[in-house]
Amino acid sequence: MIPFLRYLAIAVLLLFLESCSNETNTTQDTPATLLVHNATIWPGQNLPPATALLVAADGTIQAIGTDTAEWSDDLAPNTTRIDAKQAFLMPGFIEGHGHFSGLGSSLRNLNFLRSRSWDEIVAMVAERAEETPTGDWITGRGWHQEKWDRPHDHSVGGYPIHDELSAMTQEHPVVLRHASGHALFANQKAMDLAGVSRETPNPRGGRILRDPVGDPTGVFEERAMDLITDAYQNFVQTMTPEARKDEWLAGIRAVQEECLRNGITSFQDAGTKFQEVEWYKELDAADSLRLNLWVMLRHSYDEMNANMQGLPHYGDRFECSAIKSELDGALGSYGAWLLEPYFDNPGFTGQNTTEVATVDSIAQLALSHDMQLCVHAIGDRANRETLDLMAKYVTPADDRRWRIEHAQHIDPADIPRFAELGVIAAMQGIHCTSDALFAETRLGTERARTGAYPWRSLLDAGAVVTNGTDAPVEDVNPIESYYASVTRARADGKAVFFPEQAMTREEALHSYTAAAAYSAFQEDVRGTLVPGLAADFVLLSNDLRSCTDAEVLETEVLATYVGGKREYMLE
Ligand SMILES: [Zn+2]
Repeated sequence: MIPFLRYLAIAVLLLFLESCSNETNTTQDTPATLLVHNATIWPGQNLPPATALLVAADGTIQAIGTDTAEWSDDLAPNTTRIDAKQAFLMPGFIEGHGHFSGLGSSLRNLNFLRSRSWDEIVAMVAERAEETPTGDWITGRGWHQEKWDRPHDHSVGGYPIHDELSAMTQEHPVVLRHASGHALFANQKAMDLAGVSRETPNPRGGRILRDPVGDPTGVFEERAMDLITDAYQNFVQTMTPEARKDEWLAGIRAVQEECLRNGITSFQDAGTKFQEVEWYKELDAADSLRLNLWVMLRHSYDEMNANMQGLPHYGDRFECSAIKSELDGALGSYGAWLLEPYFDNPGFTGQNTTEVATVDSIAQLALSHDMQLCVHAIGDRANRETLDLMAKYVTPADDRRWRIEHAQHIDPADIPRFAELGVIAAMQGIHCTSDALFAETRLGTERARTGAYPWRSLLDAGAVVTNGTDAPVEDVNPIESYYASVTRARADGKAVFFPEQAMTREEALHSYTAAAAYSAFQEDVRGTLVPGLAADFVLLSNDLRSCTDAEVLETEVLATYVGGKREYMLE
């Protein structure tokens, strides 16, 4: 049978079988609500394979195994029975580092992740301008000049110049975030509102790109982005609080749907504001969260230090028990803080975006509130500084599970320190293959080979490695990041990045499930399929342990269950 029809058949069967139930079984005081049988189950690393699982009324796994006959006493007439038709069933994916509300709003804004040229982007913005009230901002994100089919002919420093875009959007300020999140593009109207001119100096830790006569080109890197985003925030402040919350809620509804469609049952957010913590608490109390959300609080030290009452917060599906900070920017935009200069930018070692002393204060704040510390570090200098800082406060015996977010480029001497300190490497498989087009150019071959996205070396040294996409920096689809993790190859076939650093299939599944749960102190609640844990699982069209590499990419999510409830099914 051709694959599509097979998926369709499974989907139809799921729908049909879920509406039927067997009337012949005995009743129990607490009968199971759901039986899934005839599945190919991977419950987690080093756990025995199974073919069936039983979900209890409270949404946890009641039993898992191969012999459903012995469960007859646990079934009731109203127990839903699903014949999985041997589909692959595994714990739901845990997005280990993404931006939940950011992905929500990006789903509502212009998305350039798949744009092939600057002209295409300008056309999309111009079209949006026609339907946007005069004076309102137009926002978008996901553009990346290295991913276009050809460089733009009117460019400075590899980036386009704003004139063309500005001419077509004179009535609207426009801000378009770079895919990395570490640069943005502004049109003339946005720069006017931000008060940016030829005279504006570069702020600390940031850069305003300029043409040969010194005029801003529209590109703002790292901390210089604040000039434009502050102006945008001024506009947001003119919205009523209700309108702002409605917009946020619309994004949250969209991101939940997007995650569930992709088999994601838990999401670890890398930067939540106090206001959002309150709103998430409300959603959780109203049972309106359709998946589990674990967030890192992110504010300046002063803002946090004065406002920590009620934190950490442990709710039903919402938890805020970590603090986010960052030491550098991204590799693509020369923001990664390196020990030695960039190979393609001699004399430049990147950006230290937050002073080490400030991150140290935030570390002490995390310690005093018994919260995890999560530090963004991409370059080898940033990773070393973070490890040095964490070594002051954690030992493996403390079991604090502090995390380095991205841990992208690590000096080989520092790789063993993750396991030695019990520091988690919160990595993203897809970043490796996305960056494969320029990482070797930035770092040179030797540094790229020995220390860039070195998850094989980290795992061999005993470190805990998690997975994710940094969405909306990348598409939130875990299948693509899984593929990158096990092949180090781009889906478009344009590059393979040092494949000797690939994970095994089981390691990659583990990184996307139990390792992520462990990295949030949730391994006793979710991440594997064993009795007592949440019945968060997905049914997939291929067995990700044994299908071919090409089949990995074709894998479809057939159904997503959170707490035993079906939240998505392939139509
Ligand atoms: Zn991020």
